[in-house]
Amino acid sequence: MGLIGQSKKLADVVVKETLGEEFLKIIKPLKRKKEMSELELAERFDKDVNYTRSLLYQLHSKGYVGFFRRKDPKIGWYTYYWYLKHENILSAFFKHNEEKIKALQRRLEREKKTLYFECPNNCMRLDFHTSSKYHFKCLECGELMQPLENKKEVKEIKNAIASLKATLKLKR
Ligand SMILES: [Zn+2]
Repeated sequence: MGLIGQSKKLADVVVKETLGEEFLKIIKPLKRKKEMSELELAERFDKDVNYTRSLLYQLHSKGYVGFFRRKDPKIGWYTYYWYLKHENILSAFFKHNEEKIKALQRRLEREKKTLYFECPNNCMRLDFHTSSKYHFKCLECGELMQPLENKKEVKEIKNAIASLKATLKLKR
């Protein structure tokens, strides 16, 4: 898949997560055409031009879109045309992904640190630090306590990290 195809595929994720869902309606028609006039975009978007423009400016401030103006030979007015900046979208996507991975890794560390130990006879549950002081033995019955890792949570975080890392492999 080329750069443009990749950007079109990944644009929704980064635009939605960094700006909001509403912006998807603006970039959708832009994905189908090389460039589009402000008026045409507003029509597709079904909002007035000023509102459409305010959203385009926000997309522009993130570097996701660019614009140029062209004079209409018949009426002599300038019309603004907007287009997607595919390279910027892709690099923003990868940067955003890397930040998400880092945040998940921090969460995973926290999750691992708050490991609890439970007595198999259900006498008590202690955190890692306290339990290690007693060599992981139950204070009531002396049974060896078992780690009560939040396995589901940890597995989910690990899966999320793995799938984000898989997307990063697309990076050129
Ligand atoms: Zn016990």
